[in-house]
Amino acid sequence: MRGAVLYGPGDVRFEERDVPRIIKPTDAIIRMSATCVCGSDLWDYRGINPVAQPTPIGHEYCGIVEEVGSAVRSIKPGQFVIGSFFASDNTCPNCQAGYQSSCQHREFVGGAQAGLLRVPLADGTLVATPDVPSDDLIPSLLTLSDVMGTGWFAADAANVRPGKTVAVVGDGAVGLLGVLSARPSAVTRAWPASRS
Ligand SMILES: [Zn+2]
Repeated sequence: MRGAVLYGPGDVRFEERDVPRIIKPTDAIIRMSATCVCGSDLWDYRGINPVAQPTPIGHEYCGIVEEVGSAVRSIKPGQFVIGSFFASDNTCPNCQAGYQSSCQHREFVGGAQAGLLRVPLADGTLVATPDVPSDDLIPSLLTLSDVMGTGWFAADAANVRPGKTVAVVGDGAVGLLGVLSARPSAVTRAWPASRS
């Protein structure tokens, strides 16, 4: 399998990597439909974060489930799934309180810029769509892996409400999706009768 590996600042290599396999019974193996570069990948690429060893990169991903471990219940082979960059069980007290990225059993999911990816805690981490989506929907669905959820959380945590004035510091993908997340209430306020 070919995959992207970061060796150091400015040094990304697309090279042969081991094919991921089920290690724990709660794992799933996903065949990537789409993956992308996150702003936080660039911290390492630019040398802002030290790179201690060659590291497979990519943590925004969606794709088709190839295989699941024996303890996985809700995720099935053949489903199209979107995953988060922190694997979470979705059952511990932190997850139940809505802070899945602080799951007591969280694991960072890395190495998605490749053909296949192992995702731990598959039932808690992956969300399946009702059907396999058409290709034109995949870029939008890919945003749900990181930037859309992060932007939504920012808008929610900032308690954005109709009538409030809000400053968005940074107009990258997360900032723009924070604005998009806040927009439905504003639209409802402006056009209550004609817009849904
Ligand atoms: Zn948890």
